[in-house]
Amino acid sequence: MRRVLLALFALLLALLVLLPVVLVGVRPRRPPPTAGYPIAVAVLQEDTGRVVELPLEEYVKGVVAAEMPAAFHPEALKAQAVLARTYVVRRLRLFGGTGVADGSADISSHPGQGQAWLDQRALRQKWGLLGYYRYWRKVSEAVEATSGQILTYQGEIADGLYHSTCGGHTESAAEVWGQAVPYLTGVPCEFCRHSPHYLTQVYVPLRALAQSIPSSTTSAGASGSAGVALALLESTVNGRVRSLKVGDTVLRGTDARARLDLPSTWFTWKVEGDRVRFDVRGSGHGVGMCQYGADGQARQGRTYLEILQYYFPGTAVSLIFSE
Ligand SMILES: [Zn+2]
Repeated sequence: MRRVLLALFALLLALLVLLPVVLVGVRPRRPPPTAGYPIAVAVLQEDTGRVVELPLEEYVKGVVAAEMPAAFHPEALKAQAVLARTYVVRRLRLFGGTGVADGSADISSHPGQGQAWLDQRALRQKWGLLGYYRYWRKVSEAVEATSGQILTYQGEIADGLYHSTCGGHTESAAEVWGQAVPYLTGVPCEFCRHSPHYLTQVYVPLRALAQSIPSSTTSAGASGSAGVALALLESTVNGRVRSLKVGDTVLRGTDARARLDLPSTWFTWKVEGDRVRFDVRGSGHGVGMCQYGADGQARQGRTYLEILQYYFPGTAVSLIFSE
């Protein structure tokens, strides 16, 4: 009896020791996401001035997390991952890109100089601890599912531009930067209506308007009330303001947007007393992928490949390395 008990005890002990080993042994091991192309990205961290070097795929995760709401549909996050990767690969010095101005890094984390990137600490602050575990996993999965994929056009790395909300139609690159790009001509988009930026109002006091356009002259009564006369000169084919006249000054729509801090170049206005009310559609330059539109399309069942094909007609999704 004692011998039987001892044998049972030994068996139990063996099981306790062996079971975890067996479990670990059979758990399928995923290859690291950067397997096949160990590319490092040197990121100039804008707030600290430090240059952080990290694997490309990890960098892309930090961009997707910074540039798109993590609550978006996974297919929209995947489309964003491809564009974030495309953008940085174009900038990589390894691929002949220029990197940042002083040559100290490939890319800056400053959103105004390309695309935003946040590190783990910043993301914990942004999402909170619980949100962090949920969203980091969601973003990571989207990035890993598209590992190594970039947008190309006729075998070249494409210009994978994106913006928050188009407001009903995306804009052509030619209108914004004066250079035509075959796959960036503007497409209708009815998928971003759920965006908080779809239609917004911006109020600018007439006095501030006159000050923001230095050479403009105030003309009482010219706009129907005392203030600065505003006149639309030309619209783009996609419906945005190409040029307008403020007082005596002719401005491009893109300049007016920058000077008056308007969300986009798609706006109309109305003088209300001593201020101008701007009704603005969308947010951002309007070129390339509409992020809220991508989310809207994903919610309707479209895949990230279909979404990218929609906003960048004629492009393809390719792997950085084909082997
Ligand atoms: Zn849109």
